[in-house]
Amino acid sequence: MTLVHTAGTEPGLPAPTAAPAPGPVPGPAPALRTAPEDPAVADAATVFVATCDLAGQVRGRAVPGSDHASALRSGTGWVPVDLAISSFGPIAPDNVFGSRGDLRLVPDPATGVDIPADGDHPALRLYLADQTLPDGEPWPCCPRTFLRGAVEELRERTGLDVTASIEHEFVLGGLPSSPPFSLARYRHAEPFGSDLVRLLEQNGLQPENWLPEYGDGQFEITLRPGTAMAAADRAVLLKELVRDLARRRGLPVSFAPLLTPDGVGNGVHLHLSLRDAEGRPVLFDASRPGRLSALGARFSAGILRHTPALTAWTAPSPVSFLRLTPHRWSAGGIFLAERNRESLLRICPTTQLAGADPAVQFNLEYRAADATANPWLALGVLIRAGLEGLVRDYDEPTVWPEDTDASVLAGVPALPASLEEALHALEADDVVRSWFDPRLLATHLSVKRSELAQLAGLDEAARIRKVADVH
Ligand code: GLU
Ligand code: MG
Repeated sequence: MTLVHTAGTEPGLPAPTAAPAPGPVPGPAPALRTAPEDPAVADAATVFVATCDLAGQVRGRAVPGSDHASALRSGTGWVPVDLAISSFGPIAPDNVFGSRGDLRLVPDPATGVDIPADGDHPALRLYLADQTLPDGEPWPCCPRTFLRGAVEELRERTGLDVTASIEHEFVLGGLPSSPPFSLARYRHAEPFGSDLVRLLEQNGLQPENWLPEYGDGQFEITLRPGTAMAAADRAVLLKELVRDLARRRGLPVSFAPLLTPDGVGNGVHLHLSLRDAEGRPVLFDASRPGRLSALGARFSAGILRHTPALTAWTAPSPVSFLRLTPHRWSAGGIFLAERNRESLLRICPTTQLAGADPAVQFNLEYRAADATANPWLALGVLIRAGLEGLVRDYDEPTVWPEDTDASVLAGVPALPASLEEALHALEADDVVRSWFDPRLLATHLSVKRSELAQLAGLDEAARIRKVADVH
């Protein structure tokens, strides 16, 4: 069940208006490229229509290029129980959908990306889709529809819009060893790296930084900010484009949260900011702690209050919580801090170089996520939690200054220690549960519990390997 949509504005929040964002403030980046109109281009490649599910897997169906236009109009067939497939293959037991029902996977033309032909690998056009009922009505269990609902409810109740971007870390195998952040590592990954950046640019994903990271063979890619939907779509597409190119180049790749128990983690960091109906950023207030506005503090309070339940969506693999421990620069506890890479919510730095306006750059980074999460759900739950903070009377959170001693921060509330704990926290949090169709919630719980059961009895290293094999 979702919250009731209200047309009014909550007290203390800017009034919603229908006015478009004016020019000078950079608004969200444009949507991904639109579908090609030229039928010759459209027919050249097979078309794959995909969704991303609770297991964080991208699944779907292909249609011949000659059916491109009709697939855009009416989608392809799909089945409700597909949502109950676990990361490791089997359908979770006790799934609420059973063997019945049918859906459509209706592609969003704005998400289309082209993977050009490359040697023996034919070209492919890939779309992300909404899962709808056969008559085209939204299916309340569709993860992409969940994010759309969260964005719409935030806008209706507060007049605010989210700008977001999602950073990914991943490890490329088979490269010579090299120092962290080194030019040598960067060059070892050529021509993969340059080809990847070109592919992302050609497809409108707007790459910002492509960098050798700290861990062995680890890299990171950041994309420019956009609307919440564009950011989540790009997160789904980015992983598939990286995997597809790496596969074609014979490079093993993994986005899994850990590859060895003592290794460096692969994080997914979600960056969020809020703008009012005129496109003005509203998180920045130079006079307040951490320069975080009162509104930003309330939004943060919602996320901090519900973090244990949120992590069941943002870090949902059986090994995700091995990464979420102190001293890994992932998220070492539930706290909001200025420029601290151990925080759950990090107030990111801004620059004044070239006369840049700090208010426009100012954003919050949620660090307790990884690539086993569904990006639409991960961003959707953060927006819903932030909205709860805006409309409820939660305590103002502490903004820990940048120079706070680590010994002081050792006393902050801990994150769940395991996926089991996070799932219990989700079941115990009535507010978070109220955001979901009961079938979506039940399916998430059963998929995650079945993934835990499938790895039961394995030691830590073996569980990490199993997750890395599928992520
Ligand atoms: N690898 C760290 C993580 O697991 C992030 C390091 C960084 O701040 O880039 O989240
Ligand atoms: Mg990083």
